[in-house]
Amino acid sequence: MSMNYSAPRGTKDILPDEATRWRFVEDTFRRLCALYGYGEIRTPMFEQTELFVRGVGEGTDIVSKEMYTFTDKGGRSITLKPEGTAPAVRAYLEDHLGGQGAVTKLYYVTPIFRYERPQAGRYRQSHQVGLEVFGASSAAADAEVIELTTAFFREVGLQSVELRLNSLGDAECRAAYRDALLDFAAQYLATLEADATERMRANPLRLLDSKDPAAVDAMKDAPIVTDYLEEESKAHFGELQELLTRLGVPFQLDPRLVRGLDYYNRTVFEVISGELGAQNSVCGGGRYDGLVALCGGPDTPAVGVAVGIERTLILIEERAIPAVSPAAFLVTFGDALRAEVLELATKLRSAGIAVDLDLEARSGKSQLRQADRSGARYAVILGIEEWSRGAVQLKDLQLNTQAEIAVESLQNELTP
Ligand code: ATP
Ligand code: MG
Repeated sequence: MSMNYSAPRGTKDILPDEATRWRFVEDTFRRLCALYGYGEIRTPMFEQTELFVRGVGEGTDIVSKEMYTFTDKGGRSITLKPEGTAPAVRAYLEDHLGGQGAVTKLYYVTPIFRYERPQAGRYRQSHQVGLEVFGASSAAADAEVIELTTAFFREVGLQSVELRLNSLGDAECRAAYRDALLDFAAQYLATLEADATERMRANPLRLLDSKDPAAVDAMKDAPIVTDYLEEESKAHFGELQELLTRLGVPFQLDPRLVRGLDYYNRTVFEVISGELGAQNSVCGGGRYDGLVALCGGPDTPAVGVAVGIERTLILIEERAIPAVSPAAFLVTFGDALRAEVLELATKLRSAGIAVDLDLEARSGKSQLRQADRSGARYAVILGIEEWSRGAVQLKDLQLNTQAEIAVESLQNELTP
């Protein structure tokens, strides 16, 4: 049979063994979110294009180059979600999640779609876990989000990651800083194509976020944003650092850290790892107090983070994640007890015991081989004569011992 189809470029199948690792990462995140009082939100895979153009920002790589946008049969412009924050904001507003003065804490686990050049740690469909806190302006909210993120990396077994932290201040100080950056970068900007210059002028912070070596070089001694912070932002940033220190969260100040998205203010942070090569950022987050209003809502402070699952998994590749094996594999010789075996499997499964069996009426010998391969501790062997007395053979595949036991005690015997 010829194979005519392959998964689209930049996508991959997650097969059962790999999926175990994915579930471990996702379950760890969900467990922590429940501990910290975050509720799950699941938004659609696609939204009106306008939401992302507005909410992520026209000047960003995401909007200018990376979106999967198409016109549906009703003539609407639709975009597969390239990130989770704008949809969360849309839902927060549409579903009235923010009562008067309330703080709303949400988390999500979602695929994202970006038309990128696929390489290690960079896909066209990738996946994120993320948090959004709406309605909280204090540094405590930033600290909670960052501490939760750190706890997540710790719990999945990641050691060699580094938290980078910066403050971008508010709109007022940003204007002066943008001007300073543009002044400083004038020579470099003159070397760019007109549209690239235009993009940088629209959002000069991108000059610091560019991966172009020429830009990195040109901006090496650029003015730093923290010299421009106004008093309130400075106080907020100072308080955040105190809180993180108190919570035992190590961080590295990085005055050159800006984020690729337009909407951040004050706190920005990233977790990076040397082990990831060029794709060294495993998560990005920060405060975005202007975004809810930008999307048509009331002034609402907000802070959040998005963590890449693929890059997290690359980093925990070597760490042992317990394999899931059945407790027992059921075996019968001959055809007489085929239905009984399936029935017994069903009973044990409904009692919460993971068991497996042969579904293809293979020989007893083959079934025992399957039992070994399955990783099960026990084989339960049904023989006609014993079965008629309400008994089975329980074979310990590790110790290679075997004994007759009553069917009624099987459930107890197999309960881990
Ligand atoms: P990069 O600079 O590597 O492109 P980014 O700034 O675009 O990252 P964010 O939009 O902040 O990334 O997304 C948060 C996290 O999601 C990233 O740190 C990364 O772990 C993950 N991520 C983003 N894009 C991809 C992708 N195309 N493939 C795999 N993971 C991704
Ligand atoms: Mg990117």
